[in-house]
Amino acid sequence: MALYAELHRHLGGSVVPRILWGYFERHSNELVKGFQDYQEFEEFYTKPRNTLEEYLELHTLVESVQTVETLPYFIYRLVRGAYIFENLAYLELRYTPYLRTPEHLSQSERIDKMAEIVDVVGKASKVPEYPIVTSQILCMHSRLPYEVNKAIVDLAAQNRQYVCAVDVAGGDSAYCERMDEWKKLYEYALSVGLNTTGHVYETKGGCHPELLPYLMRIGHGIQIPLLSPDLLQDVARRGQCLEICPSTYIKTGTLQDIRQLKIVFERCFDAGVDIAICTDNAGLHNVRLPFEYENLLTYDVISFEMLQACQDAAFRHAFAWPYGGERPAQLLNGLLHPQSQKALIANS
Ligand SMILES: [Zn+2]
Repeated sequence: MALYAELHRHLGGSVVPRILWGYFERHSNELVKGFQDYQEFEEFYTKPRNTLEEYLELHTLVESVQTVETLPYFIYRLVRGAYIFENLAYLELRYTPYLRTPEHLSQSERIDKMAEIVDVVGKASKVPEYPIVTSQILCMHSRLPYEVNKAIVDLAAQNRQYVCAVDVAGGDSAYCERMDEWKKLYEYALSVGLNTTGHVYETKGGCHPELLPYLMRIGHGIQIPLLSPDLLQDVARRGQCLEICPSTYIKTGTLQDIRQLKIVFERCFDAGVDIAICTDNAGLHNVRLPFEYENLLTYDVISFEMLQACQDAAFRHAFAWPYGGERPAQLLNGLLHPQSQKALIANS
């Protein structure tokens, strides 16, 4: 049994259509009425969109039902599915806590409510019967004002027990006019010792070289090898890992064919840039992590050796994996074959 690490998964996009439909059936007849049956809902929910912006709109559908009361319901099912169907040993879940607070409250009241959301997500993610190491990444958001994003960084800094990093999300073409703000927020996050990642170089409009020095990992980053391969040397020197989510680029219309990723992987491997393969929105795509791996092999985007290198890189770049350089295979060997492990140590 291979165990995997997932570094890039949004809480909003992690609800698989069957679970969301089940929830709507139980709680919200209105939405269910809009569809003839489950099949029609699944097609609507998972169909490709024309742009990243259109695709991100779907998140609001899920965000609207993920409240402090319902989060444990969704997270329990998410962790259960991740353990049973995806063999995850490690999962970083990301979301914007502000967008899970009640909309009718004032901005400052919503900011105050964010801590409770982090706490609820943290507690709900620890499911004894499905032992996955989990941590949260809090996402600043391109549509939210500076004060809210600053409060998100503060909240991350105050909740190390549950939170391992900050991110910026919401469409990477929307950062331009507030670039100084993003730099300031990342500078601040780094100054208080937080780990950083950020959605950049996902689309052609999202190429922001000025943000790269602030990031420990790069959310997507596929446009670096595609459009600016000259930057790869710097990315390698800084030890940054690309979080590549293959299904996303087809669903958002960023790429037309998964095989366009072949050159992305090749250029990164040639330059010594690590890649972690991730799902982004496993529920929205209805594609779980092992299928992302399998697809890349099937379409001859990567070799088996490259896949294993990416799986190792995911653990190496995980912000909260507690076993340092040890991979699950080594840990399992120690557990399942203690004698051969002892012999190895004796011979070394
Ligand atoms: Zn993402």
